[in-house]
Amino acid sequence: MNYLSTRGHPDRKRFCEILLEGLAPDGGLYLPETYPQVHTATLAKWRDLPYAELAFQILSLYIDDIPAADLKAICAKTYTAEVFGTDEIVPLRELEDGVYIEALSNGPTLAFKDMAMQLLGNLFEYELARRGAELNILGATSGDTGSAAEYAMRGKKGVRVFMTSPDGRMSPFQQAQMFSLQDENIHNIAITGVFDDCQDIVKAVSNDLGFKRKYRIGTVNSINWARLLAQVVYYFAGYFQATASNDKPVSFTVPSGNFGNVCAGHVARMMGLPIRTLVVATNENDVLDEFFRTGIYRVRGAADTHETSSPSMDISKASNFERFVFDLVGRDAGKLRKLFVEDLGLEGRFDLSADPAFKQAAERFGFKSSRSTHADRLATIRDTEKRFATLVDPHTADGLKAAREFLVPGVPMVVLETALPIKFAATIVEALGHEPDRPAKFEGIEALPKRVVKLPADAEAVKAYIAQNCD
Ligand SMILES: *Cc1c(COP(=O)(O)O)cnc(C)c1O
Repeated sequence: MNYLSTRGHPDRKRFCEILLEGLAPDGGLYLPETYPQVHTATLAKWRDLPYAELAFQILSLYIDDIPAADLKAICAKTYTAEVFGTDEIVPLRELEDGVYIEALSNGPTLAFKDMAMQLLGNLFEYELARRGAELNILGATSGDTGSAAEYAMRGKKGVRVFMTSPDGRMSPFQQAQMFSLQDENIHNIAITGVFDDCQDIVKAVSNDLGFKRKYRIGTVNSINWARLLAQVVYYFAGYFQATASNDKPVSFTVPSGNFGNVCAGHVARMMGLPIRTLVVATNENDVLDEFFRTGIYRVRGAADTHETSSPSMDISKASNFERFVFDLVGRDAGKLRKLFVEDLGLEGRFDLSADPAFKQAAERFGFKSSRSTHADRLATIRDTEKRFATLVDPHTADGLKAAREFLVPGVPMVVLETALPIKFAATIVEALGHEPDRPAKFEGIEALPKRVVKLPADAEAVKAYIAQNCD
């Protein structure tokens, strides 16, 4: 399998070459040259496989530069009941007639990002050992991504994590999750400033090419193809649990921000998994909903980006969206470049409303979308507790609200549960007047000793800290 860039760079790469990379050299995103096709006979063979073996089968179609036995061992070591809480790994439960919740948030940090990040940690360790190389991951987080990365990389040989976060701005639970890690290769850096300051620091350090090369700086952001690939697996696992045979269609609703999760659903559908509809659920930051309704993609400025009660979906632009648009415009890299480099670069928007391709988003690719507000979230959380005695987190609530707008009799609707309520306790208290249950292993984590350094919002200070901690 070879990978290409959405922006038309002539080079083709193998999986392990793009594993440790971010963007392609021309600024595009990597995609496989073709989507391997999965036919009925294959689906029949996969239906009853344990999750780790299903993951191995799917990953094998995209990874041909890791020996099969090694890849199989990596999958087996990643997807265990010990790490994800159950043998099913992503158990499906029926909420009401025809509406299901697929649990993706029972990993170490209680959000779905563990599903991909845990695999990434094992793939990184494997590939770095093979190359005899080291990697220093530098990131900025306001919550879910940073903790998932730290729990995936803790104790891994050849990898260090330097994670910046805005001092005092994460919830006490999120701070405790990250800062209580005592592993030597994990470095928490609390920056005196806001999340944007942290992102600016990461950009400034990455733009210092000399420093970046000398200290082998890398990232684990959501545009990484391996993360997206890992997420394809749970669409298959959800499909098998929601159906009794492989001729039945299923729809998925996906609480979305950077379009990584739902893009994995798009890939599964392109491979031939019988997915009827992919519902993109957004919050007040409705860049994606606006596109699927109107054909206009308009990125937002900082002043237009709202801080909401589903904060992991608070985005101003959707960094994986370019992958889907590449397929939407018939994989025409020239057209893609016009949209993402010229139109977006010059005007901050592109307009496909009059382009025949736009219709294809719904008709050929099965996309629908919706948007929720804070009031919708609270109402859904209350209603779900009252009628079904089930607690959902604010992101999953955005998904449930959207899902109900697109129900079709006879087609199961699977809502992806992207986090557990305990991570967003303040909103649960606002909706219900009581705290959500806390899994036993997180009892009292706020009282654990914290491992964190405080630095000013200054890239030079962060560089000096990295340099000191790199031998
Ligand atoms: C990251 C995240 C999302 C958004 O996922 P994308 O892949 O960025 O679309 C939604 N919900 C939660 C809880 C998340 O952590």
